[in-house]
Amino acid sequence: MARNVGVIAIDGPVAAGKTMAGRQLAKQLNFRYLDTGVMYRAITWLALKNATSMDDETALGALAGENPVRLDGWNSDQVLVGGVSVGPELREAEVDHHVSLVSRVSAVRRALVQQQRDIAAQNNIVMVGRDIGTVVLPDADLKIFITASLEERSRRRWREFLAQGREADFQQVLDETKTRDEVDSKRADSPLIPAEDAWVLDTDCLTGEQVVDLIVQRVNESCRGGKA
Ligand code: C5P
Repeated sequence: MARNVGVIAIDGPVAAGKTMAGRQLAKQLNFRYLDTGVMYRAITWLALKNATSMDDETALGALAGENPVRLDGWNSDQVLVGGVSVGPELREAEVDHHVSLVSRVSAVRRALVQQQRDIAAQNNIVMVGRDIGTVVLPDADLKIFITASLEERSRRRWREFLAQGREADFQQVLDETKTRDEVDSKRADSPLIPAEDAWVLDTDCLTGEQVVDLIVQRVNESCRGGKA
């Protein structure tokens, strides 16, 4: 694919389809892929392992500052934190429950945002998260905010859990998704909001494939017409 786009920022709430779309897009463009949620999950996992209090902002900030998250591979899926290689642990329910609390802490965000910018400085990249277009990479060539209704996103998560063989009650999944949305959107530092110049893509009625096709089309358009 012809391009003059080197940095693509994708943001959006829980289970909007950012990860799937971002991965596919990065693959097609031959860009590096970075899901920044993994970094917040890694610090949350470490905090739980060390029994750090979720109310102790100083300790959480120090933990993030002293333990850079190492991400290897084109899609950054080999994760090393605190000297331990982590994978499925990052998706455990305990991490799900606490990650929004850890990511409210400004000192944690400062440490991780710096690491994210360092990675972006060295690569053509598709970076996915909550604050990429607004805070991490405000000069991104293309900013996309992927969203869907609370019900649709909860349904997707619920189906995902069932496919993984996890026990899941739909109402509980919906309540948890709603809580995480609220904490992420209402926090003082880097709340989840679309950047002013973001393209907002509602995926309620779209398949994953259609989402990727639309984004690829948009990338091609931005190549022809300059910055999106
Ligand atoms: O995307 P994922 O659901 O894995 O993200 C987990 C959590 O990490 C989010 O709910 C949010 O609290 C936090 N996060 C964030 N900023 C990002 C990426 C994730 O605050 N850029």
